[in-house]
Amino acid sequence: MKIGVLSGNPELYSTRRLVEAGKKRGHEIRVVDPLRCYMTIASQRPTIHYRGEELSGFDAIIPRIGASITFYGTAVVRQFEMMGVYSVNESVAISRSRDKLRSLQLLARRGIGLPVTGFAHSTQYTQDLISLAGGAPLVIKLLEGTQGIGVVLAETDKAAESVIEAFRGLKENILVQEFIKEAQGADIRCFVVGEKVVAAMKRQGKEGEFRSNLHRGGKASVVRLTPEERSTAARAARIMGLNVAGVDLLRSNHGPVVMEVNSSPGLEGIETATDKDVADLIIQFIEKQAKPGRTRTRGQG
Ligand code: ADP
Ligand code: MG
Repeated sequence: MKIGVLSGNPELYSTRRLVEAGKKRGHEIRVVDPLRCYMTIASQRPTIHYRGEELSGFDAIIPRIGASITFYGTAVVRQFEMMGVYSVNESVAISRSRDKLRSLQLLARRGIGLPVTGFAHSTQYTQDLISLAGGAPLVIKLLEGTQGIGVVLAETDKAAESVIEAFRGLKENILVQEFIKEAQGADIRCFVVGEKVVAAMKRQGKEGEFRSNLHRGGKASVVRLTPEERSTAARAARIMGLNVAGVDLLRSNHGPVVMEVNSSPGLEGIETATDKDVADLIIQFIEKQAKPGRTRTRGQG
């Protein structure tokens, strides 16, 4: 098959591994930078051009769209879909997953366990928002943050109030969330391919840190999931409409709760921690699924 990896950087571990795994299984793999694609929108014959040539003959694409280029990146994925090329994650599912509020609302509607969460843009009723989320200790997050930046633990209502007021000054959307203390500074990354969790790791924040992000000094190790964790992660990915997803869970007293669902989960951490060839599993999944025009909008909302 001819498979495109949509990625801005061929040197990234995840991109390199997908190229390697695809070649090993006998496919022609090409890395395409979505930002360098330009396109014609036509009902008869939509096309994508790249560095002066028309891209054609692709059976499947693997979108690796960074959060900063979601808008243009998903437009390129959509264009491939219009051309009948199978995308392992479809464009609407990627867009959906990039909107944290929309994702949490969708998961809640389908009965997935979540931390009690309030959200606001510019309410003056800070105390009411704090009590809606169950009172301190609370985790307060900027909606647009990544790698743990903009995620703050407020141990008292007073502290929560100050943080919410400071964030409000930034004119940002904020989440106010029940602090899952019993998770003890760890979260679980479940890597889903198709309908299954194919690998999972526990990320433990460094001493005294409640955030487990590897970028903040967290350490990853292999973990055994309970059947409930396994099914929660697989269901969350399915509800989001993602075939490849990184589902982040916290182990709470009331069972696994989903923190977020990532549509371009990195391969380096999970392959290193678990010693599993996740890239190969993604290629195998594509071999089973990719037929021209196979991509359909499955999800909702
Ligand atoms: P980011 O998108 O910046 O990674 P997250 O929402 O994933 O932000 O939060 C970063 C880390 O903080 C998580 O990996 C987790 O370890 C911790 N964390 C986030 N929310 C909570 C919570 N409600 N209770 C306990 N720990 C949390
Ligand atoms: Mg995170």
